[in-house]
Amino acid sequence: MHKALDEAAAAAEEGEIPVGAVMVCKGKIIARAHNETEKLNDVTAHAEMLAITMATSALGGKYLNECTLYVTLEPCVMCAGALAWAQLGELVYGASDPKRGFSRITPSLLHPKTKVTAGILEKKCSEPLLTFFKEKR
Ligand SMILES: [Zn+2]
Repeated sequence: MHKALDEAAAAAEEGEIPVGAVMVCKGKIIARAHNETEKLNDVTAHAEMLAITMATSALGGKYLNECTLYVTLEPCVMCAGALAWAQLGELVYGASDPKRGFSRITPSLLHPKTKVTAGILEKKCSEPLLTFFKEKR
């Protein structure tokens, strides 16, 4: 999760919403990404989406059933849906997202086999977001 936080910090530096994600497979980091919606002019360029693409190209297969995704913010429904398609093995996230988080809207969205752990370093994960939105809006 600390590596995911580093990614979130990199996003903040680039003026992106500070969300970071790291994909781990068999103890190895195979992808690290942060939100790039501004840079890419792409509303789908969430950290999780970029991490999925990076991870599958690193693995050479489309399924991530042996991977764990660490992400600083609870995934939105788009990302949770994509993670379901990828059959993600385990999802670990920090801060909850009461507005856009998938768990409030459709908790069953993830793949039935995906293990979920929430609230890891929650405070540390939400801090950059709170700072970011305080400065921007
Ligand atoms: Zn998302």
